[in-house]
Amino acid sequence: MRTKIIATLGPATDTLESIRGLVRAGARIFRLNFSHGGREGFEKLVAIIRSLEKETGETLAILQDLSGPKIRTCDIGLGTLEVTKGAEILLGAPGQEEGREEMVICLDQPDILRSLRPGEVVALSDGMLRFTVTERIGDLLVRMVAVNAGIAPPRKGISFPGKSISLEAVTAKDRADLDVGLDLGVDMVAISYVQKAEDVARLKSLMREKGRVLPIVAKLERPQAIQNLDRIIEESDGVMVARGDLGLECDLPTLPALQKRIIRACNRAGKPVIVATQMLLSMVSSPMPTRAETTDVANAILDGADCIMLSEETAIGRYPSETVSYMGEIAIQAEAFHFEDTSARPVAPDYEDQPGKFLAYAACLLADKTRSRAIVCHSRTGSTARILSACRPRQPIYALSGDDRTRHFTQLSWGVIPAVPPEDESNHQERCERFIREHAAFLEGDSVILTAGQPTNKRQLETQTNVVKVYEK
Ligand code: PGA
Ligand code: MN
Repeated sequence: MRTKIIATLGPATDTLESIRGLVRAGARIFRLNFSHGGREGFEKLVAIIRSLEKETGETLAILQDLSGPKIRTCDIGLGTLEVTKGAEILLGAPGQEEGREEMVICLDQPDILRSLRPGEVVALSDGMLRFTVTERIGDLLVRMVAVNAGIAPPRKGISFPGKSISLEAVTAKDRADLDVGLDLGVDMVAISYVQKAEDVARLKSLMREKGRVLPIVAKLERPQAIQNLDRIIEESDGVMVARGDLGLECDLPTLPALQKRIIRACNRAGKPVIVATQMLLSMVSSPMPTRAETTDVANAILDGADCIMLSEETAIGRYPSETVSYMGEIAIQAEAFHFEDTSARPVAPDYEDQPGKFLAYAACLLADKTRSRAIVCHSRTGSTARILSACRPRQPIYALSGDDRTRHFTQLSWGVIPAVPPEDESNHQERCERFIREHAAFLEGDSVILTAGQPTNKRQLETQTNVVKVYEK
């Protein structure tokens, strides 16, 4: 399988046994969703994942997902409200419910109430329950009418489709959570509700202050982000098509084209891209997905996704490991279909004129021509591995790196298998050759393409990739 599966951990997957099940089924990246749960729980999960890395020999990456400025309803002890169509409900700041007869929904970040106007739409429960604002009652209180019937549980996300909201991308909670994440040793950090490149830059500078800069995944879930797409991609190390919230904030019928647009831009820039949310949602309670879900997963891969993500399916579902297995089988079939086309050639990356990028592309072309078994690269920072991946070669890409952080980050890239280089060889090319000689995946007589940065007259260390070789085992 070339595509990477990300599994969100939660109450259904918080034991060694259940997470081992996810790894066996093919998950390689685990998302810790900081919108739910606290330090203690995450500490336990990180320890489990690290122990499974030792047990299985696989590189398992941990993605910390910061909640971002998501506005939620508060829990004022009323439980889940049942709302009928046409019902009038108040929306206010906490405390506004006191002494009122009518049903009140409170917001944990009430500032938005000041700018709500009659006619504007409010969406709750993942957009299933919609209201229209009918009247302003006070500075922090409005009246709304339910457009349809539904339920309003406490502590749920609430959105204001089409409304531009000026909130700090990294909240006080996110800053505290980042401290926890860095302390626990997560491998990368996702930032939610990104609207512009500066949001990502802000998180990066916070990390710099804390002395550890990890790869950043920008979650695109607001229409504003699409307007600033190229700049955001440039500033980020990876991107997530966060369809859950993006589907709420944008018109749902525009979502498929948005997904394709984002993926295409990421592929061109050679940045890993994740497609997330509701991929196999029905498997939360059913052992089989729907036809539409199966097709959606395959199409995300054919669109060019590096990673496909599971949320509720693995966090709270009844069939977590079965869902990962199912996703893996769909991926294998979709990839086989993609390569069935004998004209499927490696794709030239953008900026082909940059020698490093062209060399990676040339390695892929060479692998194609010589029908090689694999491509083995020595990649200190992971950038060669990323460019090779963006060319989408037929062959798997083994990315050797002595840097633990690089190995975990390259796990996000399509087709990349991170590996530890043989240590006793100081020369990168020799490391690759020795790796090929010793690895059981390569047979006698196999041809393997290797790329490495060899010392030059001017530079002894830290050279960029400058060698491509056809190696016969
Ligand atoms: P979430 O992000 O699961 O943290 O909300 C993903 C999405 O919105 O799709
Ligand atoms: Mn979201």
